[in-house]
Amino acid sequence: MSKTVLVSGGAGYIGSHVTVELSQAGYEVVVADNLSNCDLTCLEGVRKILGHPVTFKEMDFCTVKAVEDLFDSFRFDAVIHFAAFKAVGESVSEPLKYYRNNLESFINVVEASRKRGCAVLFSSSATVYGEVDNPPVTEKNDRQSATSPYGNTKQMCEDILRDSAAAYEGLSGIALRYFNPIGAHPSALIGELPRGVPNNLLPYVTQTAAGIRDCLSIFGDDYPTPDGTCLRDYIDVVDLAKAHVCAVGRMLGGKMESAYEIFNIGTGRPVSVLELVKTFEEATGVKVNCRIAPRRPGDVTAIWADPSLAVEKLGWKAERPLVETLRSAWQWQQYVSRK
Ligand code: UDP
Repeated sequence: MSKTVLVSGGAGYIGSHVTVELSQAGYEVVVADNLSNCDLTCLEGVRKILGHPVTFKEMDFCTVKAVEDLFDSFRFDAVIHFAAFKAVGESVSEPLKYYRNNLESFINVVEASRKRGCAVLFSSSATVYGEVDNPPVTEKNDRQSATSPYGNTKQMCEDILRDSAAAYEGLSGIALRYFNPIGAHPSALIGELPRGVPNNLLPYVTQTAAGIRDCLSIFGDDYPTPDGTCLRDYIDVVDLAKAHVCAVGRMLGGKMESAYEIFNIGTGRPVSVLELVKTFEEATGVKVNCRIAPRRPGDVTAIWADPSLAVEKLGWKAERPLVETLRSAWQWQQYVSRK
């Protein structure tokens, strides 16, 4: 019998890609989402890609009863938790909104899971590492104090899962620390749909290329890096989604070596802001109007993953070439602009 996986926040950017990969790997997937930061565009795309709809519940994970009822209606073997607010700037101006939503929803999910022996996969972030001295980072690197309430909720949720897995018999969990997820599904039917002005680099690049934004600001060219711009580890969203399938397989296959495990999910390759823009232009043949702007407060100079633990233990590695990822983001942007 196939295993059933709950994807909380599965109507969003990463959740919808994970839903596709899990379904294609033979899992029954239930998506639950309160649609607070997205509409049904990606779920409709998921239906087209799979050729059938996935079970969808519109609900809020901050409501204990709604979560308990959901877990009573299905027998979940695992839950992947994406349902969270993610705007760093907004988390600084509205910290309580972020602490309440991101922590309450996760506590409810962990509580419901521990009562029923459901494994928990948490979507964490490389933001927990902060500024590092000697990239690449391994999972052994210390976490730094978070620089935003958003980042703090990622650290706190990791701790909630770690402590709960240590305390409650039968509860196990994995945290995946994503580096910089980018790109879209090769079908161009699902992708990132930022609301308003994008904060992240690639959506700003594609919107500038599409003429929605006048000019991309490159935040700082005087960093101590080869071309002066910041270095990041851009991970393709489909590769990232596949890491979740591997992690679920590890949790449900009884392969975990402790009740709580952490894996970096990145390519292991640093790419500068200028390199990303140039590669986008080469991959798509479209020029991106840009200018050098002052540094953005809070940006770290350089961070990229050492993904060897994921390679060894999850049997996963990033495979999609950057040019393909960038082309997919452009195809998705054109699809969205036409809609
Ligand atoms: N960046 C930029 N212009 C933008 C958005 C981002 O130059 O409009 C740079 C940013 O300074 C950072 C890199 O792109 O060096 C990645 O930024 P993003 O916000 O996508 O991810 P994060 O800061 O979380 O790594």
